[in-house]
Amino acid sequence: MQSSSPAPRGSPNTETVVVAENHINFASHPYEYDLIVIGGGSGGLACSKQAASHGAKVAVCDYVDPTPKGTSWGLGGTCVNVGCIPKKLMHRAGLIHEAILDAKSFGFACPDDVQHSWETLVDNVQNYIGSLNFGYRNELRSANVEYWNSKARFIDAHTVELRDAQGRIEKKTAAAFVISVGGRPKYLDVEGDRECCVTSDDLFSLKEPPGRTLVVGASYVALECAGFLHAIGFSSTVMMRSIPLRGFDQQCAQLVVDYMQKDGVDIWRGCLPKKFERVGKQVKVHYTDDKGEMKQDVFDTVLLAIGRYALTKQLDLDKAGVKVESKSEKIVGVGEGIGDTEQTTCEHIFAIGDVLDGRPELTPVAIQAGQLLADRLFGNSRRKMDYLGVPTTVFTPLEASCPAGGEEEAIKTYGKDKIEVYHNLYRPLEWALPMMELQPRAARKETACFLKVIVLPSEQERIIGMHIVGDNAGEIIQGFALAVKLRACKRDLDELVGIHPTSAESFTTLSVTKSSGKKVKLSGC
Ligand code: FAD
Ligand code: NDP
Repeated sequence: MQSSSPAPRGSPNTETVVVAENHINFASHPYEYDLIVIGGGSGGLACSKQAASHGAKVAVCDYVDPTPKGTSWGLGGTCVNVGCIPKKLMHRAGLIHEAILDAKSFGFACPDDVQHSWETLVDNVQNYIGSLNFGYRNELRSANVEYWNSKARFIDAHTVELRDAQGRIEKKTAAAFVISVGGRPKYLDVEGDRECCVTSDDLFSLKEPPGRTLVVGASYVALECAGFLHAIGFSSTVMMRSIPLRGFDQQCAQLVVDYMQKDGVDIWRGCLPKKFERVGKQVKVHYTDDKGEMKQDVFDTVLLAIGRYALTKQLDLDKAGVKVESKSEKIVGVGEGIGDTEQTTCEHIFAIGDVLDGRPELTPVAIQAGQLLADRLFGNSRRKMDYLGVPTTVFTPLEASCPAGGEEEAIKTYGKDKIEVYHNLYRPLEWALPMMELQPRAARKETACFLKVIVLPSEQERIIGMHIVGDNAGEIIQGFALAVKLRACKRDLDELVGIHPTSAESFTTLSVTKSSGKKVKLSGC
């Protein structure tokens, strides 16, 4: 959520730009490197290249422990190998299938049972990832960053031990360290989970089609994966223990799930897996239902998407005096605003990305924090990362996107009577012809796309939240996120001339407020 402190419209919130410098004397020190970065993912690669661009002597180490299924990957971290990139490509595969189903209405003679090859999709996705891994190694070389394919742990506050895949060990010293080790998917720790289930670390390289799939969990990873598997053509079931997308605007989250459910994804609410066992090539799942009764079902694939743990235990952080938060096991930041400078409890050791406690787990956050930190350490910059109002998108079949937090968060921050919500339902023009079919898709007939804008009436209706649930939501919100960051007001949206016929133009015509109690009318563009 954006800060409530007054600042003129059209200017960024200046309090977020300046920070105390990070004081390390790099001019003379007895260490081999100015900076060693531990973890070559989104944050680590960005930080190391930026530091080297300022003339620092930098090395980065990156090492991937294989999953219980034996899956492993190359340089680049989660986003490139087992996160954003393969996920978005598979989301795209799902959208293409949906477009093929719509194509008849636009005059194309596409068969209803269009065939899909999972093997081709996986091969192409993995080849693309391979090319990115190769590109990252080259980029490090061109940037004069040394790369070690080794796993690091601290020996003391200025020394790490590096162990490579062959078990060879060496020690390296540095004046400063950046920890950007990210996290890995959690397991349930119930009988049979590691033997029978896969995680997002395995899904994007599965050799065989996943078939009937159970997805355990109800947040980003779970809903995105269940969504694209269903859209590609696999039967998918989501086992949700509580609410969908905790922390996300709940009205939007429910719409995302409703759409998936109406489109044919099975949503099992209030269920908990208790045990998994192999039955031939399939997995028998023992679970309790919403009444607490034991049930069983058999799936071809079970995907655990129940959150991630930070890879801090293996770093021996206590030897360097770096503290972790006891519950999340993520690294605690110190500074004016907690973690604002990414400095840890050891003054020359910093943490960025998913491993830093209390920060959004998103690739652009890790990258920007890493680059700004490198600029402060080696480039005399004072700019710090603005962790507030970071835009995000859930890439479900109907995408949900927003800059800043949801309505619940706005109410918590400002109070229910201090905010106003403008909202509307709409059906995109792209749905119009398929909707005229004799049997249009139930999801489209019975649900719709949605948007809401949350404002502060006491500040000329300054916008503190914007949400859209609909096709291409991520592409739409990226631009509007700038308006929110520049402290735009509802009047600015009203004065903005829409681009017709688009879904985004609906943001320029919002007139119904929640407080008016008026029902929103479903509109087209
Ligand atoms: P990582 O990218 O995880 O990199 C950490 C690296 O450090 C890894 O290579 C790890 O193996 C290595 N490492 C760990 N310990 C050591 C050690 N001791 N020594 C050496 N190396 C070590 N974010 C988005 O913004 N958009 C998306 O659409 C999106 N989709 C996602 C989909 C999925 C399925 C998942 C799981 C995540 C997704 N994310 C998305 C989140 C995004 O991937 C992460 O926020 C981002 O990768 C974090 O970057 P990082 O640098 O902190 O860590
Ligand atoms: P989250 O931690 O966000 O969610 C975990 C989910 O698993 C919740 O629904 C939780 O339910 C459920 N869960 C946890 N423990 C259990 C259990 N024992 N049994 C059953 N269900 C359980 O994890 P994700 O891995 O989905 O996402 C991690 C982060 O990665 C996100 O916050 C996001 O920042 C990032 N990400 C971003 C993406 C994007 O930008 N598009 C895509 C994917 C990931 P409950 O709510 O009840 O706790």
